[in-house]
Amino acid sequence: GATLGVLGGGQLGRMFVHAAQSMGYFTAVLDPDADSPAGRVSHHHVHADYDAADGLTRLAALADAVTTEFENVPAPSLEHLAVLRPVSPGAPAVAIAQDRIREKAHFVRCGVECAPYAVIENAHHLAAVADDLLPGILKTARLGYDGKGQQRVATRAELAQAWDASGGVPCVLEQLMPLDFECSVIVARGQDGAMVHLTPQRNLHRNGILAVTEVHADSLPEAVATRAIQAARAIADGLAYVGVLCVEFFVLADGRLVVNEMAPRPHNSGHWSMDACDVSQFELQVRTLAGLPLTAPRQHSPCIMLNLLGDLWFAAGNEAVAPRWAEVLALPGTHLHLYGKTDARRGRKMGHLNVTGPTLEAVRQTADAAAALLGVALPLNA
Ligand code: ATP
Ligand code: MG
Ligand code: MG
Repeated sequence: GATLGVLGGGQLGRMFVHAAQSMGYFTAVLDPDADSPAGRVSHHHVHADYDAADGLTRLAALADAVTTEFENVPAPSLEHLAVLRPVSPGAPAVAIAQDRIREKAHFVRCGVECAPYAVIENAHHLAAVADDLLPGILKTARLGYDGKGQQRVATRAELAQAWDASGGVPCVLEQLMPLDFECSVIVARGQDGAMVHLTPQRNLHRNGILAVTEVHADSLPEAVATRAIQAARAIADGLAYVGVLCVEFFVLADGRLVVNEMAPRPHNSGHWSMDACDVSQFELQVRTLAGLPLTAPRQHSPCIMLNLLGDLWFAAGNEAVAPRWAEVLALPGTHLHLYGKTDARRGRKMGHLNVTGPTLEAVRQTADAAAALLGVALPLNA
C-alpha cells in the first residue's frame, strides 16, 4: 500500500495520520521528539531534526508523498524533499505563510484587505512608522503562534522598547483593529486547481489562543461568509496552492472583513469538521496529498468546539488532574478528542470537544453544560 508522510508529530500530524489510516494508507512521521503524539500512532516514525538531510532522505524513502503539519518547517527541507517525492503544500507557499512580511505582501497582491501595517527591520523603519498605526500590535515576522511573539504598544516609546525586547528581529507593526468578531475559512485545493471549502467558522480567542469555534446558521452573517470564502480562494489561487489552507479574518465593527493570517495546513478552527461534516479537514489533506478527487464537504450538524487547554487540568490546584470526562461524555452529542499528551501545562493544547446535535438550541445547551463541567467560560461573546 501507499505511504503518506508528514513533517511534524504534533496533534495535527496525529489527526492526519488517523485520517490517512482510516482510508487505508500507511503513514510516516518525521519529528525530533522520539515520543510525539503523531509518531506514537504512525506506522513509521523518523526520529530526526527538520533540517537534517539524512532524516529527510529516510522519510522520502518511506513515503510516496509528503505534507506538513506546521508552518515553521524550514523551506529548504521541503525543497530537499521535493526533489525526491511530491510535496504539498510546496516550499514557496510555506515560505510565504511562515513570514508575516511576505504573507501580508501576498494578501495585498491578491487584493484582499489586511490591517494597516508597517514592516520594521531596522531603526530607520522604526523611526518612520506612521502615528496612525498606534495603538498597535508588534508581531515578530517569524515563529509566532498562539499570540507568542506579540506585544501591544500604545506609544512610540513602547514600540521602541518592544522592538528592542524582541531582539531587533524583523517585525510587523499592525494597527489595533476594532474587532466585532473573528472568523476563518478552510479551503482545500487539488493538484488540478479544483477547490472546495468548509463552512466558514466563527472563532473566539482568549489570551491570543483559540478558545471556542462555532459553526451554525447563526454564527456568521451570510455576506461575511461569502466574502471570506472568496478571499480565501483568491489567496490559495494566488499561491497555486496544493493542500489544505486556513485563512483567518477579522470582522470589524463597521462590517469590513480584514484578513489576519493564514496557516498552510489544517487548523484548530477546522476541528469541528471531524464530527459535524461528512469530510473532515484531515480527509481533505489526505485527498489533496494522494491526488484523490475533492468533493464539496457538507456540514450535517450545527457544531460548537471547545478547545481543551492544559489549564483545565489545574482547576483544583497545582497538581495536574484530568477533567471528569465521564460526566462530559454523558451529555448526548459530545465528541472528545485528546491528543495523547502526557504532561498537561497551562496554555498547552491537550484536546478539543466537539458538540453536535439536531438543532442549534440543543447544541448550545449541551455546550453550556459541558463548559460548566469543565470550568470553561461560555458563551462565545464573553
Ligand atoms: P495563531 O495561533 O492563530 O497562529 P498568532 O500567534 O499567529 O496565532 P495572530 O493570529 O496574529 O497570532 O493574533 C492572535 C489574536 O490576537 C488574533 O486572533 C486576535 O484576536 C488578536 N489580534 C491580532 N492582531 C490583531 C490586530 N491587528 N487588532 C486586533 N486584534 C488582533
Ligand atoms: Mg499564526
Ligand atoms: Mg492566528
